Amino acid sequence: MNNSSYSKETLYIHKGYKTGKHQDSLSVPLYQTSTFAFDTAEQGERRFAGEETGGIYSRLGNPTVQVLEERIATMELGGGALAFGSGMAAVSTILVHLTKSGDHVLCTRGIYGCTFGLLKILNEKYNITHDLKALMTEEEVENAIKPNTTCIYIETPINPTMEIVDIELITKIAKKHGIPVVVDNTFSSPYLQNPIELGADFVLHSATKYINGHGDVIAGILVGRDKEQMETIRGSVQKDFGGIISPFDAWLLIRGLKTLHIRMDRHSENASTVFDFLKAHPSVENIYYPFDKDNPQYDVAKKQMKAGGGLISFTIKGGVKQAQKLMNELKLIKIAVSLGDAETLIQHPYTMTHSVVPEKERLEMGITESLLRLSVGLENSSDIVEDLQQALSNM
Ligand SMILES: *Cc1c(COP(=O)(O)O)cnc(C)c1O
Repeated sequence: MNNSSYSKETLYIHKGYKTGKHQDSLSVPLYQTSTFAFDTAEQGERRFAGEETGGIYSRLGNPTVQVLEERIATMELGGGALAFGSGMAAVSTILVHLTKSGDHVLCTRGIYGCTFGLLKILNEKYNITHDLKALMTEEEVENAIKPNTTCIYIETPINPTMEIVDIELITKIAKKHGIPVVVDNTFSSPYLQNPIELGADFVLHSATKYINGHGDVIAGILVGRDKEQMETIRGSVQKDFGGIISPFDAWLLIRGLKTLHIRMDRHSENASTVFDFLKAHPSVENIYYPFDKDNPQYDVAKKQMKAGGGLISFTIKGGVKQAQKLMNELKLIKIAVSLGDAETLIQHPYTMTHSVVPEKERLEMGITESLLRLSVGLENSSDIVEDLQQALSNM
């Protein structure tokens, strides 16, 4: 099924797979194998020489993984994709690919906690520097680019403050300087936002989150505009660093993807209901949601996102103790990091996901003591609202 005239929801279900080639199996078969046997020694030689397609060894490629990669490349409007054993393996692979000692990475002012940790390692061990900057205006982007900047790394919406950056604005300026742009698109999923369409060169996902959507896999995806470049990364950093996905996890992601569009519509719908409730609640001090009409970047969010997504952050009066009390009062909503699952999850970035970030940077990122991040799930939205209501009334 390679007809690109089908709409994207159809491609999420069919792209990259032909039943006839696989004993007519409707479901994509799970090739749970480490290696592939050659008919003859000469065939092995041809496969290694790249003269014949076919399996060699699952770290270099696997038929189940290949379906997943083709499907996600299509969903993100890219030329090719690589699947990894975690989102961080995708992040580290692209950063290693785009930098060498002495280079500089320019980032949005908020980034995922472990991405921050990785940049710290790259800095301390390999002299690759980075800056976290607002990047809201053309002037800010121009001023933040250095002669040795070889990568601009964007998260939007930013975790966990839900700040929106204008992907199109940044990619336009980056292009003038010949600097590749990487977007961590985890929060939006390929259904709500397609950075390549807005000029980005690479898009990555923690597929652990919305792409899988069922809270039972850790995985990552890297999509690139250019197929050949993606094959270069496959044959170099991915192959030699080795952070590949297991065939079984790829199979679960293929299964998750079939309902991505339906799940994202419902996540966004439920989040919008929960947002309206929290925004009107007297105990809620600040609230952050991309499609909040009072959000200064509302127009940018509307321009680049199909819907508001499932994540809401908010602060309440008080500090760490008050935030923890609210979480402990919840009955239905689970206290857990991660996001994008069917279950509604709440976490406290200050003491959990971003506790590794030094206090100064944490506060600069807007991660205050009472900030809570809610990943709105697929339950009936009135049950989610009711749980928050009873917990807030006990504060
Ligand atoms: C979870 C997450 C990651 C890291 O992904 P893992 O699958 O946990 O390795 C990176 N970026 C964002 C925005 C995330 O939420």
